[in-house]
Amino acid sequence: MTGLTTTTAHAGFIWLIPQNPPPTINHSQILNNAIGEVVKRLNKKECGDLFGNINPWLFLEKFVSIGTQDSTGQPFPSESVGAITTSDFANAQREPSGSIVFNQDSFLFTGTVGGRNINDVLTQQVRQANGLGNLNFNQIRQLAVLHELMHINDTAGTYNDLGRANPSLNNLIRAKCF
Ligand SMILES: [Zn+2]
Repeated sequence: MTGLTTTTAHAGFIWLIPQNPPPTINHSQILNNAIGEVVKRLNKKECGDLFGNINPWLFLEKFVSIGTQDSTGQPFPSESVGAITTSDFANAQREPSGSIVFNQDSFLFTGTVGGRNINDVLTQQVRQANGLGNLNFNQIRQLAVLHELMHINDTAGTYNDLGRANPSLNNLIRAKCF
């Protein structure tokens, strides 16, 4: 919460074990595939209606990137943080704009947490704690995109969740978009 922008979001996962990513991952393809599916989901009215403050399609096209630090230059704290959304502020008001950076070293790309396969990590308990339902890994990537997009839309800060899981938001998105 400093200066004109603040980090407001992460992908809503709670694992904190550092790990070196494997070298051969096509990050752009993974994210573009997820965004491609999200773009289709947004055409479903009750999903698109979640994003009444923004043009979600335009946002995904222009303000989403992949890197090792968020848009303020802060390195991602761990592989458990899939993305960080930074909202714009003007006159102390949060604007329906900003940017999303996906953590290239995160589980969303590596498919592992602490060296363990994501499918082994996602026990029913972990799924429930994070609002993941029975989504498969590709769907979880799509959920992460929609989740971060909701933080851009959320000018009231209703869904702020920096540093903690956010099952209620993920459950909402799953109900409307999946
Ligand atoms: Zn979040």
